[in-house]
Amino acid sequence: MLFIFVLSGCSPREEQLPDTYVDGSDYQYMYTRDASNFPNFQKGDNGYYLLWNDFIYFFDEEDELIVPLCSKPDCLHDKETAQEKRESCNAYASTFTSTGLAYCNGDLYYVDTDNSSHFPTLYQYMSDGSGRKKLYEWTEEGFMPTQWIVHRDVLYYTLQSYYTDEEEIDQFLAFYALPLTGKDRLKPEQIYFPEEEMETIVLGNPVAYGNYVYFLEAGNQKKGDEQVSSYIKTHVYNIQTGKISEIRVPGQTDDQWIGKVEFWQDKIVFLLYDSEKGDSGEGFYYIADLDGSDAEILFNTDHQIYNIYGDGKYLYQSNAENYEMSEDADPKMYHVYDENLNEIDTFTTDDTFNFDFPIGSEDRAYCIYYKESGEWGIEYWDKSVIGSLNGSEIEFTLIPYEGSIQD
Ligand SMILES: [Zn+2]
Repeated sequence: MLFIFVLSGCSPREEQLPDTYVDGSDYQYMYTRDASNFPNFQKGDNGYYLLWNDFIYFFDEEDELIVPLCSKPDCLHDKETAQEKRESCNAYASTFTSTGLAYCNGDLYYVDTDNSSHFPTLYQYMSDGSGRKKLYEWTEEGFMPTQWIVHRDVLYYTLQSYYTDEEEIDQFLAFYALPLTGKDRLKPEQIYFPEEEMETIVLGNPVAYGNYVYFLEAGNQKKGDEQVSSYIKTHVYNIQTGKISEIRVPGQTDDQWIGKVEFWQDKIVFLLYDSEKGDSGEGFYYIADLDGSDAEILFNTDHQIYNIYGDGKYLYQSNAENYEMSEDADPKMYHVYDENLNEIDTFTTDDTFNFDFPIGSEDRAYCIYYKESGEWGIEYWDKSVIGSLNGSEIEFTLIPYEGSIQD
């Protein structure tokens, strides 16, 4: 590959990458659940990787076998009880404050944000289990990466620090890019810092697709002398131009917020949340180009709190996250739409799924299950049944991690 770049006179950074989903290199939006932005399940080139209880595991879809991501001979991996030896396992990843796992171009990335005994650290894991290395440390006192993703060989993250200012506790928040390859490798670049008149409380929830990275900002905005209004907005960062803009739709008022984008058919889909109507009010979903332009109404929703997901093929709308909120509400239900926005099926989930599961790839939805006995493993839903469910409950197949079963 490098040879080609030299011949064409282009550096890898200038290479034009498409505004489509590139398998193996792009942020895996379909493995992120709404309740947290921290995916613990990732698709690799030769199998899947998962993060559970301080270790990374490899899952082979054909053998249906889960094994620790460590090729060291004589290593007990998760069976090791001595902490020092546990930490020397190639698969070790302290999940004391788990912030998820990312696969990108043959390697796995994990940020250990625990700063109690060491600096927050970015680790790189070889996907064959042959080793891991410290890639980057945040050594400035009190500064911590809180939310992060890896997309096309760049780590995007929120950097946060609390400080005391004239008897008031305030915080520093900014959004950064840290290239993992190329000439600017491991040189952090600040790409967004909140404006002066904003009292930003939340900055994060990063997601990415094609040549765009999206992140949310929420807080209070001063209006005139004293009046303060709260706001939620989503920024879009163009990787190629470095330009940042806010996603807005025509006629949007200060009380209407765009808080989260999903991806479907190489476009973004999002709810325009009307804060005056509240969660149970009627709202509108929009579809727009990846840069936020040409936004138009996709469909309306009975309740603004419902969630929407894309898996690359279908679009799903679900009330699972919030279905218990009112007694006279509709039963928990997912609606499935095809590429022409025809509703082709509906289904529900077992009561143990009291929140949305990651919608997964086109063929299967994977997630991690665990039982009180200590047994855990992977469970998956085979999507080939879509089209024949008619509101019935979907079934998950369990693949226990053999090392977790006690007898
Ligand atoms: Zn090991």
